[in-house]
Amino acid sequence: MNTAESPNQIRRTLDSRLRQLMPRGPVLLAAVVRSTRRCGRYGCKCNRGEKHIRTQITYKEGAKTRSVYVPADLVSEVRQWAAEGRRLQCLLKECSQLAVALLRSKPQAPKKPSRRPK
Ligand SMILES: [Zn+2]
Repeated sequence: MNTAESPNQIRRTLDSRLRQLMPRGPVLLAAVVRSTRRCGRYGCKCNRGEKHIRTQITYKEGAKTRSVYVPADLVSEVRQWAAEGRRLQCLLKECSQLAVALLRSKPQAPKKPSRRPK
């Protein structure tokens, strides 16, 4: 990020990012994970190498990783929710960095002398 920008330029960029912070739909802060498995049923196609595909979302809850099964008909929709989550997360991070840049662009207050002269 260019730190030589003026406070007004930074403020304009920040305002435009803040306007983009509106969710365009459901928001999901999770990874969408696809996995394949064998069910073990006799004669099933998965025994001939055509494994079953299933999709889950995984996310952190405190220190624990949780996962939730995603029904097949919702997979593409849930991917959009996760994409929206990533978009907003990136934007939020950028807004915070711009707020820091705004503070840094302001002239620093003169330092007070550390010791009182006698
Ligand atoms: Zn099977």
